[in-house]
Amino acid sequence: MMDVYKNPTFDMACEQFDLVADLLQLPQSERERVKRPKRSLVVSIPVRMDDGQVKVFSGYRVQHHLSLGPTKGGMRFHPDVTLGEVAALAMWMSWKCALTGLPYGGAKGGVACDPRTLSAGELERLTRRFTQEIIPFIGPQIDIPAPDVGTNEQTMAWMMDTYSNDIGHSVPGVVTGKPVNLGGSLGRREATGRGVAFLVSRAMDVMGIEASKSTAVVQGFGNVGCVAAQSMAKQGIKILAVSDVDGGIFNPNGIDMTALDQHMITHRSIHGFPGTTSINNADLLLIPCDILVPAALERQITGENAARIQCRILAEAANGPTTPDADVIINQRPEIFLIPDILCNAGGVVVSYFEWVQDLQSFFWSEAEVMDKLYRILETAFSQTFNMAKQQKLTMRMAALSLGVKRVADAKRMRGLFP
Ligand code: GLU
Repeated sequence: MMDVYKNPTFDMACEQFDLVADLLQLPQSERERVKRPKRSLVVSIPVRMDDGQVKVFSGYRVQHHLSLGPTKGGMRFHPDVTLGEVAALAMWMSWKCALTGLPYGGAKGGVACDPRTLSAGELERLTRRFTQEIIPFIGPQIDIPAPDVGTNEQTMAWMMDTYSNDIGHSVPGVVTGKPVNLGGSLGRREATGRGVAFLVSRAMDVMGIEASKSTAVVQGFGNVGCVAAQSMAKQGIKILAVSDVDGGIFNPNGIDMTALDQHMITHRSIHGFPGTTSINNADLLLIPCDILVPAALERQITGENAARIQCRILAEAANGPTTPDADVIINQRPEIFLIPDILCNAGGVVVSYFEWVQDLQSFFWSEAEVMDKLYRILETAFSQTFNMAKQQKLTMRMAALSLGVKRVADAKRMRGLFP
């Protein structure tokens, strides 16, 4: 039925949904309506490469549901991007926005490409042509893209400029995660990582773990993993290892995050940082630590390695890093406290929402105001999830997902079925 989306990550999102639908006892008549992505667009993107050849890339945008407002979610530039993957990520955005009370449905999009092999000019032409192809599908009241894996503030600036040129005037509210100078929000770049660190500290309170005596391992050193590691270090947590696509660096005595920052500026890479040894991404996940933060791609903690991870808090900064068969194993390990992805990484979309509101009002807030409002929302979402998990004896994942799914299902029921 949903063959066009066939993909392991989409299967995973559906499996999670089916478990939640059973738990909520959603009537069969509503399940398909809540689960199935509302609309999807596939475009081909011809790009003139620097060598004069024309290469055609595939681009996607999936809008999961339209019942609570415009749709919202990132744009991913990565070789593995497929329609099914972005559909799964769009579903998760729906539950994430509903869990944090944002007036959005979920969306996600992307282009199958390797941005690391593209020149700045090729990347700009790709981004602009992709934006041009999806113009009828996006807009401040329709669908608002943001950065994700492989995209950043510059990508958003090009998207905003391309859209604005088409409309005839500046439309900052069409994307979030823009440079602050173009109507971006203070604090947006750091929001996801800081949110992760905030929720880790809430989990430590619950577990009775002291920051100054604890250790963390972070897989993925993009915008999210890097800021999460720096923020945890500021709380006094020792960072034992961090990694990027090429592997990790490890120091059992802890990595000096300020010095690593300097190393990154000069070497544009974490590798070769003095005092560390190399470790591959699979082994990195198995390092004994208090806090394990997968901040890269989906399906990293699987049925194969879940029994061997050695942490007390599993903070899912990435979307979908843990497979359902790994969940079964982790659920049998009560010593591990899970902060599920739709809660753990929600800081990004929450501040994206603030950015959109500021753009629509042309009235901008201080960083302190942004951060204060962010932490209030995350605190509410954390305590609602935690209390529900406790009262109904659910895992944190099931509690978070059921809060999100229920809000979407309720909205659809209240609005009724048209015609
Ligand atoms: N790509 C981010 C996410 O997965 C942010 C989405 C947004 O800010 O709209 O949550």
